[in-house]
Amino acid sequence: MSYFQDSPEWQWLFSKAVNWDDILPHYISQYPTPEGLANEDEVKKNCLEILTVLDDWAEKKIAPRAPFLDQHGSGHIENGMTIPNEYLQELYREAAEIGLLGVVGSRDYGAMDLPIFINMMAFAFVSRGCLASSSQLNFFSATIDMLERFCSKEDCARLIPLIVAGKLSGSMTLTESDAGSDIGALTTRAVRTSDGSYRLSGNKIFITNAGGGLSFALARTEGAPSGIKGISLFLVEQTIKVNGVDTQNYRVLSQEKKLGMRGSFTCSVAFENSVASLIGKENEGLPLMFHLMNQSRIGVGTQAIGIMEACLQFVKGYAQERVQFGRPLMELPLFRHNFHSWETELNAFRAFFVDSLNTFSIYHRLDLKRRQTGDLNADESKKLKDALSTVKLRTPLIKYYGAELAVDLSKKSIQALGGYGLMEDYPVERWHRDSFGPLLYEGTSQIQSLMVTKDLVKGILKNPREFFASMIPSAGFSLSAEQRDYSNLRKRFFRGLTRMIVKETGWVNESKIDKLLVHSEEICEGLSYLETLKVLADHAAADDSRRLLFQDYQKLIQPRLAGILESWK
Ligand SMILES: Cc1cc2nc3c(=O)[nH]c(=O)nc-3n(C[C@H](O)[C@H](O)[C@H](O)COP(=O)(O)OP(=O)(O)OC[C@H]3O[C@@H](n4cnc5c(N)ncnc54)[C@H](O)[C@@H]3O)c2cc1C
Repeated sequence: MSYFQDSPEWQWLFSKAVNWDDILPHYISQYPTPEGLANEDEVKKNCLEILTVLDDWAEKKIAPRAPFLDQHGSGHIENGMTIPNEYLQELYREAAEIGLLGVVGSRDYGAMDLPIFINMMAFAFVSRGCLASSSQLNFFSATIDMLERFCSKEDCARLIPLIVAGKLSGSMTLTESDAGSDIGALTTRAVRTSDGSYRLSGNKIFITNAGGGLSFALARTEGAPSGIKGISLFLVEQTIKVNGVDTQNYRVLSQEKKLGMRGSFTCSVAFENSVASLIGKENEGLPLMFHLMNQSRIGVGTQAIGIMEACLQFVKGYAQERVQFGRPLMELPLFRHNFHSWETELNAFRAFFVDSLNTFSIYHRLDLKRRQTGDLNADESKKLKDALSTVKLRTPLIKYYGAELAVDLSKKSIQALGGYGLMEDYPVERWHRDSFGPLLYEGTSQIQSLMVTKDLVKGILKNPREFFASMIPSAGFSLSAEQRDYSNLRKRFFRGLTRMIVKETGWVNESKIDKLLVHSEEICEGLSYLETLKVLADHAAADDSRRLLFQDYQKLIQPRLAGILESWK
């Protein structure tokens, strides 16, 4: 048995919270078997088997290797290339063998073409085993996705089979020493040549898996406008053929020594007249890169779940054995109460996350179809539009809430072990150190909060009536008790928010927007709780067995929401 199979939460979510009926029709026609097309039950069964195998692998192979990766790091740099150490090489080999690297991606290129939510769930399991490993592996599937979505069929046919086989991967190459959160400040230059390709020059820092072989890099072409309006996206291959000879095209210069996630490469990179091909059009690169960033932000949700599950599973076992005051810690009322709160919040976040994967999967599939064929029927176009608006709202909430919660619960897990929590003999201190990675990359919590608040302001300015109608659910007789509770809390929150906006800005007055942005983190925090509660209310309405989780989570967040409203008065 595995964690996934043993966990009533995962089992309930997998069978009841995934909208199989909505998602699978978008995949099923691509899913031939020797007998013809598979039916939905077969696909579901297949997904369950794959997840069980991946979960087992994470527990038996990935987790035992994690302390070694933490101790020895990811590998070294030689002649501008990263050389993964034996532990990472073993990881890649196993990942390719077991099929993780090809969960997503077309069957034409040797991948399995399963729904993206299977990939995301699998990454939660991998993250429970080892966060650094999940970061490294993520750049295989994410690269396949970028190639299929934005690059030519020739590039896909040439590169994706190598990725599925574990021989090639990629990196997202944005950050520079003076351009971190402020990505519009980047200065890497791209010069167009007579053959239509480009030459990139500039230095990047903090790049995960920088030596994977492919780089999706942001740069500025000649004469590009300043700021984010002048950013273009390029595919840069680390090794290219020059006159038939393999030649290095960019160099990895050094790797960082880090507090956590030591088994993952975080490197500086030098582009020196590096040959690059433009993806999309000049100055229109950022929205394309946002596809990868947003997917990685949802990936942070998988990492957060992984860390929290690892921590709480360990703490539970420890607290059942460790005796103080004549009883195991878990039988001491205060300890048990605290642990229950931590479990409640993890279970709530996981449910929120899995529910969000439903719309993300629809968006992911239909957006790919739109880009590849330009041909969506009216029903598909509407589904894509609806899915996109939910994905847009929830992606920064998942990143913000998941990352903050993982840091918090891993800190509490150290406390739960007392002095032993600080000792390297126990893995909890490593999980806490690792938890700072997801907190910082893919845009910090402050950047997520600002995005949420700015989107909120845009919505209000565009059409206040429609905006508030969309944000505040209408009361209905058909609502369950939990849905009514949720609806009332949400109304109270938005009433407080509206009053605060009026107090700070007179109304949404763009010249006074800074006064509103100061409250971004509170807005993001509050919306994270409310969106999570909404999912739990819907689950409780569908299944009585979920009512307790709703009630416990409501108890947990009510005082926090009240605190936010109080601070706005
Ligand atoms: C382990 C790791 C892996 C990474 N991997 C990659 C990668 O693969 N590719 C890549 O391109 N980058 C990567 N990064 C870089 C990462 O994306 C940046 O570190 C991050 O975006 C923050 O930028 P910065 O470090 O320059 O901090 P800064 O932008 O200098 O921010 C410093 C602080 O100021 C806050 N801040 C910034 N702007 C505002 C604002 N407007 N209002 C309020 N507060 C603000 C931030 O929240 C932060 O707390 C990685 C980083 C780490 C730690």
